[in-house]
Amino acid sequence: MTAHTSLPAVCMMDAAGKIRSWSAECQWLFGLTPAEAAGQAFGTCIAPGHEHDFITLVTAARTKAVRSGIGLLANDKSVFTASLTIVPQSTRSGTVDQFVLIVDSGLHDEDAKQPDTDAAFFKRFSANLPGPFYVLDQVGHLVTWNRVLEEATQLRSDELAGMHALDFFDEAQRDTIKQKMRNAFERGVSSVEAWVVRKDGSRTPYLFNCARTKVDGDICICGMGIDITERKQAEEILHLYQRALQASVNGVVIARRAENGNRIELVNPAFEQISGYRQDEVAGMDLLFICAKDTDHGEQGKVRHALQHCHSIHVVIRSRRKNGDLFWSDLKIAPVANSAGTVTHFVGVLSDVTEAKHYEAQLEHLANHDTLTGLANRNLLHDHMEMAIQQARRHGNLAAFAFIDVDNFKFINDTLGHAAGDDVLRTLAQRLRASVREIDTIARLGGDEFVIIFANQPDAGHVVDMLERVRHNIAEAIPTAEQPIHVNVSIGVSVYPRDGNDAELLLRAADAAMYHAKFIGRNNYQFYSADLNASVHKRIRLEASLRGAIDREEMYLLYQPKVDLRSGRIVGAEALVRWKHPAQGTLPPAEFIPVAEDTGLIVPLGDWVMRRACAELKALHDRGFNDFSIAVNLSSRQFKQRKFLDCVAEHVGTAGIKAGALELELTESQLMDNPAHAAQLMSQLKELGVRLSIDDFGTGYSSLSYLQKFPVDSIKIDRSFVRDLDEGAEDAIITKAVIALGHNLNVKVIAEGVETKEQLAFLRHYGCDQIQGHYFSEPVDGETMQCLLEEKRVLAVMQ
Ligand code: C2E
Ligand code: CA
Ligand code: CA
Repeated sequence: MTAHTSLPAVCMMDAAGKIRSWSAECQWLFGLTPAEAAGQAFGTCIAPGHEHDFITLVTAARTKAVRSGIGLLANDKSVFTASLTIVPQSTRSGTVDQFVLIVDSGLHDEDAKQPDTDAAFFKRFSANLPGPFYVLDQVGHLVTWNRVLEEATQLRSDELAGMHALDFFDEAQRDTIKQKMRNAFERGVSSVEAWVVRKDGSRTPYLFNCARTKVDGDICICGMGIDITERKQAEEILHLYQRALQASVNGVVIARRAENGNRIELVNPAFEQISGYRQDEVAGMDLLFICAKDTDHGEQGKVRHALQHCHSIHVVIRSRRKNGDLFWSDLKIAPVANSAGTVTHFVGVLSDVTEAKHYEAQLEHLANHDTLTGLANRNLLHDHMEMAIQQARRHGNLAAFAFIDVDNFKFINDTLGHAAGDDVLRTLAQRLRASVREIDTIARLGGDEFVIIFANQPDAGHVVDMLERVRHNIAEAIPTAEQPIHVNVSIGVSVYPRDGNDAELLLRAADAAMYHAKFIGRNNYQFYSADLNASVHKRIRLEASLRGAIDREEMYLLYQPKVDLRSGRIVGAEALVRWKHPAQGTLPPAEFIPVAEDTGLIVPLGDWVMRRACAELKALHDRGFNDFSIAVNLSSRQFKQRKFLDCVAEHVGTAGIKAGALELELTESQLMDNPAHAAQLMSQLKELGVRLSIDDFGTGYSSLSYLQKFPVDSIKIDRSFVRDLDEGAEDAIITKAVIALGHNLNVKVIAEGVETKEQLAFLRHYGCDQIQGHYFSEPVDGETMQCLLEEKRVLAVMQ
């Protein structure tokens, strides 16, 4: 070790013994560059055998500065003895977490051989320290210090000599500092944060750590300050943030991103106030708890997506307060990344916008609704008409628009005053509302004009039913302050797609139809299209007259004989209803059965048919035609009646006939509508003893597996298959197949609509059991039937 230095080597070591700073003298002494030394244990510089001394020394240094001779390892691995001083430091107040180590190898120069005074020693080593260093006597006067202190205070060496330490500080801090100094003298160490006021008045914050020590026999304290300006600034900003968070009127919530969701860590007072939850109640909850369950699915989806993909999001959603109330919250969520760019947190800012939302809804309502009646206005009507049109287009059905105008409204207004007029309009609005489904739109166009939208209508008949209901509901007198008023309306109806493709056109058409209704004489309704008008009115008239037809005895039955193909004899007949309409003459079932089905009149009508058929059977049996049977056609409405079975039993009983003489014809589609129910009811009917057959076989979509479950006696091949029975024709193949199928299932097969010799020959050839049709006889009245039976008429070709 040839070269030498006049300065002691100084380094810093943390609580774990790792080197944190390394001076040039250290490098010279131990041969490590500052970069090599950083993070290494200082223990590696201790000579073997001296480790224990070193540990003892460091332990003692936790409470006060210590100094002792110790063996060290030089850069050439030679061992040398030096004086090691260890001064405790703490970067946070309270705990010692760092040490300054001063190695004085005594190798410097001649005067080093003289024993150093402590004060001189401190002076020498402190020159190298990074912070202001000081030694104070028990009064608090400076004994020695370094250059950094001179710079920190802007005082010269001669000014500092003998100065009291408290003079560096503000009056306000002096008491605290005095106390801390006392602590150091009494307990060995102490630390304090304080602002050093320089000569020019500027101030710098320092963290001072000091320890008790002996300097040339006197008890002193020595220590060093660390400039904490940066930390203070950071703290101040943090504090500012904190204050802002506390003072914010917006709710703020911070959540940590985790595997299983985003866990709330912090909320501010505004959040607590808005939500009603305290910080400790929400801590750990998932951030999504902000979104009220089962609301605003679209928006919540967006929030989820944003959280999943770490995007910012801005939504207005409903949240629930602790007390259960919903409120609208305007919510912005943004991801927060750490210094490595990884999103670790989300911060949400929300404000309660319930009131604004209500106001908005109110405005929207005002913009779209009529103030007098609360009904939709022209604006909304237009939108809803477009919607109804689109819906009808999609579903392939109808949308109807009824334009309603109050008859003589001007007269009401003029004679009873506007207040009464308003009353009338309001009441009308309520009654219209009550006449239609919740989903139907009613609008007031202003004045005395209203429009109803009937969306999703299967046919015009339905619309008529609805209009009838509307007219019925508004017929009652409206009470006003003056007197009850009877109000009539004229209604014009347009129908999509028939009368137009867009809302405007359809509204104009309905308006025109309304004028037509007024022209005809008010208090009625008219469809825009003439055809529809005609058919609707015809239907209405038909419906009205059908209601009384049975009572007026306008209905009668014809019987079409059924002939057995083996014997050629009449074995039974099918009852077919006719209506002798007073104005339109005799009507076939096709003209009125559908109306009867729609209105439910089919039930009393079917009942009447069965009663008549049973009475006819009774008459025939009484004349000795015991084996004769009559088949009646059933509608599915009848079939679905709960008391249907009882009805049949009653008719059979009342007439006093064998149940086996009555046959019921059901179509394939009626059975397949609800096969399970059909099968059950059929077996009950079978128990009763009546016969059953499947009508129009081949036109429906029977499943063969069900067919086996239906306990039928016969199947009837539909007339459409019998029409073309040339050998090889498709119909001929089907007919042959049905006959074969029937025989396999052990049921009789009856062919309908047989008109020619050829058809008959074909059917007989393939073993069909019975036929019906004009070839043998058209449907005839009961009397003619009896004659045929008495004549014992047989099938022509049989002879
Ligand atoms: P459906 O049950 O298929 O009745 C057979 C229809 O074919 C009858 O028509 C009959 O007159 C006709 N017809 C019979 N033989 C021939 C023929 O050789 N050539 C031609 N062109 N037609 C023939 P109708 O009487 O007009 O009855 C029509 C439909 O009305 C019946 O079809 C049945 O579904 C229904 N119907 C008739 N009466 C009643 C009833 O009392 N109640 C119910 N629910 N429906 C009935
Ligand atoms: Ca039939
Ligand atoms: Ca038929």
